[in-house]
Amino acid sequence: MSTTRVYEENIRDLINRPGEMRERSRELIVPEKLGEGLAEVRAGERMDLDVRLESVHEGILVSADVSTTVHAECGRCLKEFATPFQVEFQELFAYTPTEADEYEVHGDHVDLEPPLRDAVVLALPFQPVCRPDCPGLDPESGELREAEAAESPVADVDPRWAALAGFKADEEPDADDESASVSK
Ligand SMILES: [Zn+2]
Repeated sequence: MSTTRVYEENIRDLINRPGEMRERSRELIVPEKLGEGLAEVRAGERMDLDVRLESVHEGILVSADVSTTVHAECGRCLKEFATPFQVEFQELFAYTPTEADEYEVHGDHVDLEPPLRDAVVLALPFQPVCRPDCPGLDPESGELREAEAAESPVADVDPRWAALAGFKADEEPDADDESASVSK
């Protein structure tokens, strides 16, 4: 049982009535954060929850559509940013759970918190970026490589120039190169 009732749905009028179906839409405030990595849905965030509850012989089949906002730290430039987030899930809440059924009808309600949390956490970006073409930080200065990226996108670099850059790197080994200290 979760510590909050905000994700619970009353299914009293659906119990043992196969074929009956209810659709509900509501807005809620996320009571505790979802996610542990660089991206998370924060406590206090607004969440839109569209739920379809279908009575079947074994229990209640729940289909849910979750829309909210994710706060994340860009894996390249370390900037914090917020982005819209949407995920769906479908789970059976059984009257009499077997080993195969993960979730159970509790009295006159189902608690969507466990499957919702799993669906959100699985869908959160593992390596978030603030924008697809984020240039990241300059490894030497630590500054955002904004101007350089705007003038010469990596994709447009002439392969001959790339080869030359590699040649120069080989000819002028960096004294601060960490790989030198760990080589045998
Ligand atoms: Zn970034």
